[in-house]
Order: sequence, then C-alpha cells, then structure tokens
Amino acid sequence: MLDVPEDKIKTITESLKENNVIVNKKGRVIVLDNCIDCGACISLCPTEALYFNGDFKLEFSYEKCIGCLLCLDSCPRYAIEEM
Ligand code: SF4
Ligand code: SF4
Repeated sequence: MLDVPEDKIKTITESLKENNVIVNKKGRVIVLDNCIDCGACISLCPTEALYFNGDFKLEFSYEKCIGCLLCLDSCPRYAIEEM
C-alpha cells in the first residue's frame, strides 16, 4: 500500500506499470442500489471493506478497499461495479 499525493498519481502509476508492477486504486468499486444484502461478497473481501451493519445491510468502506476487484464476480445481482 502506497500513499501518493493527488497531483503525482498519474506519473507514479505510469512509472510503476512500466516496471511491470500491478497497480490497484484504493476505493475502486461502488455498490449499486440493486444490492439485496445477501452477503456473498463479504467473505471474498480480504480487507473487510464490505461488511454488514447492525441491521444486516451491506456497507462499503472506501478507506479499507484496496481495489483488488475480487468482489465483482461474487455478486449474483451484479451490484458491484468498478469505478
Ligand atoms: S475491490 Fe477488493 S478490497 Fe475492495 S471491496 Fe472489493 S474485494 Fe474488498
Ligand atoms: S453480493 Fe451483491 S447483492 Fe449480495 S451483498 Fe454483495 S453487493 Fe449486495
């Protein structure tokens, strides 16, 4: 995990990619309104960025998301999209 200043993101990202480093963007997904709170995506998320709140409604933490995109294919409703 690397914190990069906003104005240097493009330069640093391109440099890393040129050196064959896989670059993921933090907070890379969005949960859409058609989510039915089934929880299928929760077990796949390595950082607990997807979780249930006290009412068993799905919540998403932008801060915890490392952009791995493992959750995308887990959703039966296609309710998670890459931003
Ligand atoms: S992209 Fe990865 S880290 Fe982010 S919510 Fe999905 S599974 Fe979790
Ligand atoms: S798998 Fe899809 S429908 Fe189920 S909780 Fe996650 S986003 Fe919602």
